[in-house]
Amino acid sequence: MRIVVTGGNGLVGNSIKDIISIYPNHAFTFITRQECDLSSWYEVSNYFVRNSFDYIIHLAAKVGGLFKNLDSNIEMFSENIAINENVLKACRQFNIKRGIFCLSSCIFPCNPSTFPMSERAIHESPPHPSNEGYAYAKRMLELQCRLHNKAYGTEYICLIPVNLYGPHDNFNIRDGHVIPALMNRFHGEKAKKDGRFIAYGTGRARRQFLYAPDFARLICSILLDGTYDNTEPLICCWRETSIKQMVECLADVMDIDKNKLEWDSDKSDGCMRKTVDNYKMWRYLPDGFLFTHMREGLKETYSWFCRNRDNLRN
Ligand code: GDP
Repeated sequence: MRIVVTGGNGLVGNSIKDIISIYPNHAFTFITRQECDLSSWYEVSNYFVRNSFDYIIHLAAKVGGLFKNLDSNIEMFSENIAINENVLKACRQFNIKRGIFCLSSCIFPCNPSTFPMSERAIHESPPHPSNEGYAYAKRMLELQCRLHNKAYGTEYICLIPVNLYGPHDNFNIRDGHVIPALMNRFHGEKAKKDGRFIAYGTGRARRQFLYAPDFARLICSILLDGTYDNTEPLICCWRETSIKQMVECLADVMDIDKNKLEWDSDKSDGCMRKTVDNYKMWRYLPDGFLFTHMREGLKETYSWFCRNRDNLRN
C-alpha cells in the first residue's frame, strides 16, 4: 500500500518514521508544511494530482498547549476546519479508501454525565471553553469521517489520543503542551545560579499522558494489521496522573530538587479532569500492548531534548 502521512514532521509523524521498517511491504510518504500547506486547496489539489496513495494517516493540525489555545481559539478553529476539509476533499477526489484521522481527548465535554468518558460522549455537551476552537474543529472531523464512510463506503477511522508527548515535540515555552514547555523552561533555569522552577496552575488538574511512539505503534497496527474491524472512533489512552505528580516525576528525571518546585496558581488549570476510558481499545488488542511508563517516556524525551536543543522546531 502507498500511505501518505500528513504532519510528517510533527510529534507523531516522526514517531511513525521510526517504525516503518516493521512494514516493508508498504510505502510511506510524509508530507511536511513546507511541501504542502494543507490549509490551501490549491496546494493540496496540486500535491495529490502529482502523487497517488491508497491510505492516509492524517495527523496535521494547528495545535498547542492550554495557553496557546486560550490566546487563539479563533485561529485554532478556522485553520483546523480548513485543513480537515481540504484533506477530506482530496481523499474523496483522489480515491483514498482507508485512513486514520487523529482527534484528541480535549474534544470531550468538560462536564460529562459520567467519568470515565467513552467514545459515545464526544458530542454529548460543550467542551472546555479554554480550547473550544480546537475542540469543535476536531469534533467536526469525526463527523466528516463518519459522513464520508456512510456516503462513499470508505474506512476512515478516528483515533482519540490523550495528551501526547515525546521526542520531536514542540518545546516552545509559551505555546507548547505542559511536558515540553516545562522541560524547556526548567532546563533553562537549571543553567542559572538562582534558577526558579515554576509550573503553572495548582497542579491539581488531572491528565492522561501517552508517549507518542506508543501511539505511532497503535496507529500503524490499527491501519494495517486488520484487527480493528470497524470504523467507529477509538480512544487510545493509558493511566491518569495529576499534573503535580507528573511535574515531580519530570523534576526527578531532570535532576531537579522537588522541594524547589513552585506553583503559579494565578495561571489557569484548564480543564480539571478529562478522564477517558480505554475499555474498547483493549478489546481490539487481544495480544496486549506494552505502554511506556511515564518515567521512562520522560527520560527518553529529555535525553532527546538535550541532544537536539539546537534544532528544535517552533
Ligand atoms: P491541556 O491538557 O489541553 O490543558 O494542555 P496542556 O498540555 O497545556 O496541559 C495543561 C495543564 O498543565 C494545565 O493544568 C496547566 O495549568 C498545567 N501546566 C503547568 N505548567 C504548564 C506550562 O508551563 N505550560 C502548559 N501548557 N501547561 C502547564
